Amino acid sequence: MLTLTCPCCGITADETELHPGGEAHLKRVGPGSSAEAFETYLFARSNPKGVHFERWRHAYGCGKWFLAARCTATLEVFGTYLAQNAAPPPEILAAIRARRPDWTPTAIAPRDPEPAERPNE
Ligand SMILES: [Zn+2]
Repeated sequence: MLTLTCPCCGITADETELHPGGEAHLKRVGPGSSAEAFETYLFARSNPKGVHFERWRHAYGCGKWFLAARCTATLEVFGTYLAQNAAPPPEILAAIRARRPDWTPTAIAPRDPEPAERPNE
């Protein structure tokens, strides 16, 4: 069972007390963005086997959103941190590198959408 510690209230809760919110650190697109960029923002998600950054809500606790770094294959948790962080804090990255020396943080870099070929333009 997945167990995470809420960084907002400090309570360690199992996944039945939490609600998943999908991938963390998504780059939002604003007005004036292309349709492809908006489509990528809405639908394109990474699904790695390994280190993943996710949003979680302490639904049956303090109710606040937070972020977690964990391994999707082993459920090993590298750490949790406040949702206000635009990128994983250095201590989280250090914890990941200590246990996964071959890991590279490609999954947290903002993804630019590939321009689609549009024959009518
Ligand atoms: Zn909490």
